[in-house]
Amino acid sequence: MTKDMTQTGWNFDNSYVRLPEIYYTRQNPTPVHAPRLVVLNHSLAHSLGLKVEYLQSEDGVAVFAGNRIPEGAEPLAQAYAGHQFGHFTKLGDGRAILIGEHITPKGDRVDIQLKGPGRTPYSRGGDGRAALGPMLREYIISEAMHALGIPTTRSLAVVSTGEKVIRENDLPGAILTRVAASHLRVGTFEYAVRWGSKEELKTLADYAIERHYPEISDDESKYLLFLKAVIKRQASLVSKWQLVGFIHGVMNTDNMTISGETIDYGPCAFMDTFDLATVFSSIDREGRYAYGNQPYMALWNLTRLAESLVPLLDENQDQAIKMAEEALGEFGKLYQSHWLAGMRAKLGIFNEEDEDETLIKELLDLMQEHKADYTNTFKALTLGKLEDNVLFGKAEFDDWHAKWQSRLNRQEESKESSRELMRKNNPGVIPRNHRVEEALEAAVEGDFTVMEKLLHILSNPYEYSAEQAAYCTLPEPSGLPYRTYCGT
Ligand code: AMP
Ligand code: MG
Repeated sequence: MTKDMTQTGWNFDNSYVRLPEIYYTRQNPTPVHAPRLVVLNHSLAHSLGLKVEYLQSEDGVAVFAGNRIPEGAEPLAQAYAGHQFGHFTKLGDGRAILIGEHITPKGDRVDIQLKGPGRTPYSRGGDGRAALGPMLREYIISEAMHALGIPTTRSLAVVSTGEKVIRENDLPGAILTRVAASHLRVGTFEYAVRWGSKEELKTLADYAIERHYPEISDDESKYLLFLKAVIKRQASLVSKWQLVGFIHGVMNTDNMTISGETIDYGPCAFMDTFDLATVFSSIDREGRYAYGNQPYMALWNLTRLAESLVPLLDENQDQAIKMAEEALGEFGKLYQSHWLAGMRAKLGIFNEEDEDETLIKELLDLMQEHKADYTNTFKALTLGKLEDNVLFGKAEFDDWHAKWQSRLNRQEESKESSRELMRKNNPGVIPRNHRVEEALEAAVEGDFTVMEKLLHILSNPYEYSAEQAAYCTLPEPSGLPYRTYCGT
């Protein structure tokens, strides 16, 4: 007997299955041997209207494991395509299954997706499974991003499966339950224009508009407005990544959402030392997705979206291309104004002066030159405690500091309000790579306490609490660069 909604909180209403069939394949998860709940996100569960006690019960865990389909769910794997490192490929959910769309108590529609639930028609050579370490890594970093105020998919739970996944070594298997505004990607539109009819492309665009940009749904030029709206959200999103030093690592078009949420936490990581060329991903040998390249790659991806939408923009193709180009032309300005506003806030600046950009650039140049830690430098400026920073005592930095102080003196707001603004915009703590690794290593050995403590610390990054201090120290220099891996 399935429990009813009042006992579980699940409230499914599935719209994706009503799209043309080319966009998905109905697919149930493959049951696993011995599921065990490893981590559950209580506050997210509450905001989704789900009953924590039920989620922790055998029935609830069975849902996270793919062993039970909750009432109202209609599992499916989504079809999509994507440019991976510049090369176009047909993809799809190879190791993910959308179990359904849940309607929250506030009326929001969210995808409930299992990551690692077994093979689907899009798995190609893969096993459709995921390992515990990488699923916990997504959980930790996506929740840290949320706490930092950056739009992102969320992580509701991770279960271990009691099964091994075969990678280079045998690893413990796991499934992550991911919650997202939707899983529509730039790659979904690339798929539509390549393998669907014009009518099917239109249906997908109408669906995306209805779901994420309903305010434009009645407009005559809604497809152009849709393109502009996605450009706007992505410009804002990527500026937020840059401001906290987040490196996505695999900004392929299948990993860029239409909703404007960060998605796909594979090889991502936060930068320690400020360096525009920072790359962590082992497969990004050319630095395509390096820190300093992220805004350019976002525009590259949006250009693929614009191309996909050309057939809907205007009957006249030349005119349609012109419209798309104009929309894309706005990205740079939008990105720059978000980034500049964010940087001003990081430096406690309220109003605008033409010279601000130079002031910011000079600081970043000093950080790059002297290998300063990005997060800790802004934190030191916020606290006015610079003694431990590599920039401290350098004549050029003293000059910069004096310039910055006089900039602050030129605005009406008090030093106290400046500091307050800085505290809200400079995280006291980020998920440092060595801290994340340490938590994952313990978890894979069966000790989840290290991860729980880390999750707690990361849930309040702007608090500037005493307990954060231990999480701000840099790793012992190992001589080797930190490396991350995809698809593990
Ligand atoms: P990602 O690098 O996670 O964005 O994945 C790229 C593509 O590879 C997507 O279509 C995934 O579904 C697929 N994929 C990744 N890992 C696996 C796996 N273990 N089994 C099947 N498909 C996978
Ligand atoms: Mg992906």
